[in-house]
Amino acid sequence: MRIYLDNAATTPIDTEVFNAMTPYLLNYFGNPSSLHQQGREARKAIEDCRASIAELLNASPEEIIFISGGTEADNTAIFSAVYGEGIKHVITTRFEHHAVLHTLESLQAKGVITVSFIKHDDKGLLDIAHLIELLQESPRSLVSVMHANNEIGNLNDIEIIGELCERYNALFHTDTVQTIGHYRHDLQKLKIHFLAASAHKFHGPKGVGFLFCRKGVKLSQLIHGGGQEGRLRAGTENIHGIVGLTKALQIAYRHLNKHQQYIQSLKSYMIERLISEVPGVIFNGNSANNNGSLYTVLNVGLPSVGYSRGLLECFDEHGISVSGGSACSSGAASHVLQAILTDVTKDNIRFSFSKLNTRAEIDKVIDALINIYQTIAA
Ligand code: PLP
Repeated sequence: MRIYLDNAATTPIDTEVFNAMTPYLLNYFGNPSSLHQQGREARKAIEDCRASIAELLNASPEEIIFISGGTEADNTAIFSAVYGEGIKHVITTRFEHHAVLHTLESLQAKGVITVSFIKHDDKGLLDIAHLIELLQESPRSLVSVMHANNEIGNLNDIEIIGELCERYNALFHTDTVQTIGHYRHDLQKLKIHFLAASAHKFHGPKGVGFLFCRKGVKLSQLIHGGGQEGRLRAGTENIHGIVGLTKALQIAYRHLNKHQQYIQSLKSYMIERLISEVPGVIFNGNSANNNGSLYTVLNVGLPSVGYSRGLLECFDEHGISVSGGSACSSGAASHVLQAILTDVTKDNIRFSFSKLNTRAEIDKVIDALINIYQTIAA
């Protein structure tokens, strides 16, 4: 059996989620926009899902827009801030996902916006005093800061950033793709205008997610066509995906504390074993700090194996799936690691955990690593 430690890239679908979805592929196949009974059944399923997600996040149903995933949610949020709300300046970080950075780059290249980056230290911790300076210089900005980074796991304080945005009349977009379903978000308390989520990061299906957009904020439609999703996102709804997304979030919330503690214990155990058994190991960013990082992600700089294939391939040969960083940019140098202090002589590996991993698997990974080094030394 292969060991899967690439859960920040995607998670396996939960059987309960799959079972909830199948009736909407086989039986309730109506188009939610149709006026007949089968259409009405499909419409009801979608609206029930919207209400359920809104309840879990303490939001209103009309603030939840179903969309194809994190990338589209991030794009729609940024386009809405720029074309709906007339934002001309965006404050962001060097650590955002390319769904944010490339969108901002393309708008900047067209001369539509200017972009400022919040300073950070060599662990990737953001300089909040610098954010305040930037907000003082241009108050009516969009601030786009992710809740947690998908490569090094750094958690940003979205509560404080939201408060600052409110104080300076800025809009706040946060990419919560790595944290929805893993942490609780109370959208009555958090001062967030846009939030992006993707089902496949919490044991739901791929190709579906949602954008939270606070009531009163003007949205700009990215995809034009029919009048679905309150004329904000055209195209026949991915009904089985929406049902799967909702079921996955319900399951995640049902067991959130238990899973948080369990997954954190796996990560802590791996840190302990690495420190005691792998000389020269380093932890990139804030990822070994339990309070300041995602409990699902550990980014490790390991002594290089010294030949061209690298550790990632060696792990793969040992039946272990891990990654060097973001799955979307595989092969390319990581913009996240390039932005912080890393030891260039090391092989950087992201281990990312889920509720399905076990302590025995962590043992096997460490044993495999030691075996890889021993084989090379021999
Ligand atoms: N944002 C972050 C932080 C991610 O990790 C990802 C996926 O890896 C995305 C956005 C894109 O999400 P999706 O794959 O649903 O488009």
